[in-house]
Amino acid sequence: AEFRMSEFEKLEVLGNGNGGTVYKVRHRLTAAVYALKVVHADASLRRQVYREVDILRRAAGSDRVVSFHGMAPTPSGDVALLLEHMDGGSLDALLRRRGCRPFPEPALAAVARQALLGLADLHSRQIVHRDIKPANLLINAAGEVKIADFGVGKVLRRSLDPCDSYVGTCAYMSPERFDSESYGGDYDPYAADVWSLGLAVLELHRGHFPLLPKGARLDWAALMVVICFGDATRTVPEGATSSEFRGFLECCLQKESRKRWSVVELLDHPFVAAADRAESEKALQDLLHEALDES
Ligand code: ATP
Ligand code: MG
Repeated sequence: AEFRMSEFEKLEVLGNGNGGTVYKVRHRLTAAVYALKVVHADASLRRQVYREVDILRRAAGSDRVVSFHGMAPTPSGDVALLLEHMDGGSLDALLRRRGCRPFPEPALAAVARQALLGLADLHSRQIVHRDIKPANLLINAAGEVKIADFGVGKVLRRSLDPCDSYVGTCAYMSPERFDSESYGGDYDPYAADVWSLGLAVLELHRGHFPLLPKGARLDWAALMVVICFGDATRTVPEGATSSEFRGFLECCLQKESRKRWSVVELLDHPFVAAADRAESEKALQDLLHEALDES
């Protein structure tokens, strides 16, 4: 164990996920605040937790990936991961706190750029995230966006393991990955992360999951139709958006994965590269503080 649970005081619940609960905790001695992700580690989940820890360690040093401070067993036999606390919460929660009002373009440019930097750090270390969505992009009071939740992430070895099963979030799956989940076969996992990021940015622009009408229930059949046969970029109205923004989404949401831009290429796209960095980061930070004040 790298720390003891008794060193920390639980302050509140930050979130609940598939495998466990995330708490805000304070170190009794130093008063430093962290997020503690407690995963109910039965035999099958335990391997997944170790994989998540392995990825967090490999990603150490990236300033756009939530940092990892250690793991420990809990008295009840679960596993706890000590993480950097992101005090603005997830972008998904931020959207809801805004009453689902769309993010303005400058704020979206700041989100896109920072998430791309995180993905660039991961992809350059042969790590794919596989679950990029607004709930897994976290923000802090400084307006910094970081990638979290490696519960289904993967370090790629030589080839893709076709027997590897995992629960991703189907709604953010790219067309080729959706096909491969349904019928088997290989897909480019780096390009699949790019699709998910494009969809996440589009969701923050639309205020709801962009491939289905607002409030529609997510089911497999409906998703297959919109992901595999729909055109994700068609939901972006011309007049209301800049051509740079529409162009950026088109590069992320190319249905054919070979035509999709890579993370490195996207970092040079005018939507993120030509945007005034200080101005777009200020727009995102203002949006965050406005939402925090309202709630
Ligand atoms: P999995 O997909 O592996 O089941 P999960 O969804 O259970 O993971 P996370 O996504 O890591 O777990 O965390 C769930 C929620 O808890 C997040 O959406 C976020 O709201 C909150 N959270 C997680 N990590 C942090 C953190 N470091 N700082 C602040 N809030 C966090
Ligand atoms: Mg999650």
